[in-house]
Amino acid sequence: MCAMLQSAGIPAVTADLNLVTLDWAISQALGGVKIQVPEADVEEAMQLIAAYHAGDLTCGKDDDADRCGACGSEDLGVVVPNSQKALALGVFVLLGAPIYTSTQRVCNTCGAVETES
Ligand SMILES: [Zn+2]
Repeated sequence: MCAMLQSAGIPAVTADLNLVTLDWAISQALGGVKIQVPEADVEEAMQLIAAYHAGDLTCGKDDDADRCGACGSEDLGVVVPNSQKALALGVFVLLGAPIYTSTQRVCNTCGAVETES
C-alpha cells in the first residue's frame, strides 16, 4: 500500500511496522501498521486507497520485474534459500517472528533461479 502511494508521487511512510514485525501481539495495542502521508496529500491518498480496494488500479504489464530473466516466462515461484530458513528460524527463536532478508525466484518454465533481496 505504501509503495503504491509512493509510486503515485505521494511521500508515504509506514509507522510502527518494525514494532509489529518484532511482536505481532502488540499490533492490536498499536492499532496495527499505519501509513502516514503529508496532510496536503491525504485526499489523493484516500482516493488511491479506495481505488485500490475497489480493484480499479492496474499494474503495467510491460514491467519486466515479474518475468524470468532467461526465458521471459511469467510462471515464477518464490523459494527461500536454506541458509535464509536457518537464519529465519534463529531469529524466530530469539524474537518470536521470522525475518527473511532475501528470497529466490525460480522459473517454472526453464528452471532459472534469480536472487532478489
Ligand atoms: Zn525461465
